[in-house]
Amino acid sequence: MSEKIKCLIIGSGPAGYTAAIYASRAGLHPVMYQGGQPGGQLTTTTEVDNFPGYPNGIDGPAMMIDLENQAKRFGTDVRYGMATKVDFTSSPKKVWIDESTEIEADAVIIATGASAKWLGLEGETKFNGLGVSACAVCDGFFYRNQTVAVVGAGDTAAEEASYLANLCTKVHLIVRRGEMRASLIMQERVKNNPKIEIHWNSETEEILGDANGVTGIRIVNNVTKATEEIALTGFFVAIGHQPNTSIFKGQLEMDAQEYLLTEKGSARTNIEGVFACGDVQDTIYRQAITAAGSGCMAALDAERWLAANNLH
Ligand code: NDP
Repeated sequence: MSEKIKCLIIGSGPAGYTAAIYASRAGLHPVMYQGGQPGGQLTTTTEVDNFPGYPNGIDGPAMMIDLENQAKRFGTDVRYGMATKVDFTSSPKKVWIDESTEIEADAVIIATGASAKWLGLEGETKFNGLGVSACAVCDGFFYRNQTVAVVGAGDTAAEEASYLANLCTKVHLIVRRGEMRASLIMQERVKNNPKIEIHWNSETEEILGDANGVTGIRIVNNVTKATEEIALTGFFVAIGHQPNTSIFKGQLEMDAQEYLLTEKGSARTNIEGVFACGDVQDTIYRQAITAAGSGCMAALDAERWLAANNLH
């Protein structure tokens, strides 16, 4: 049994919801499947201070609820479920949800975002949920008054280290080079926080632990080759993201990092009627506001394409 619709939106971050607002207002009756993390990456952040329209900032999860309600107000059919397979070789396009429900859609808007990357250490899987995490906001609470480490040197790592410093006794920030990539204001915040100790030119060799979970890490200085063991109970990885594109392999064009390729100045992919927006196709900006802007582009492109093909 399959359901035939005009416009399917896959993913529910700022890009997906903005596409949904525009598509529903344009009468495309979009159906959105939210994916494994409804609301997307912003549901794992604390304060969003740089989204225009919120002069006092807003919590990421609260902002996503606002966007969801706005999309629903115009009639978007928002559903739980994860797209697990696609077939874009014919029209309408076919998308399977949770390996069972089959959706046939004239136009598909992909807004599947990106997911946290891991270092590839054995301990990351062994101690996942037992001291290893990729989300300080989700799990930081469990490490109150304890010692933790954050790996990474971008805005995410800086934000997570600052967040954890509010809860924990001490935060070790493990930075693999002699400088940070984070914006200056975030760097300053980290450097001026007495609870945060930065370990420059340092990489994690091993996550140490026992049956109860993480007990420490061993880091190595990649200049002096000196190693050091640090006793801690929480290990947070904040080293960037991988675009969520595995189900599109072989069907849509991607770059070397597996981000979807879109035609310059549009949301069009290499397949007619399939559009991409947000972090899944953005290697440069990756901001909530740019994701939202590209979601608008995807909905407008989809509407024009449907009209041009007498499908609207
Ligand atoms: P980034 O890609 O910006 O940074 C990843 C960091 O992880 C880099 O410092 C990198 O080191 C380090 N890293 C990568 N691989 C490894 C590894 N194997 N071992 C150790 N370190 C590693 O990712 P972010 O998630 O920090 O940020 C993504 C985007 O989101 C950025 O554009 C950022 O500005 C934005 N953002 C904005 C926020 C805000 O405005 N509130 C909050 C969070 C993110 P190296 O520098 O050596 O390459």
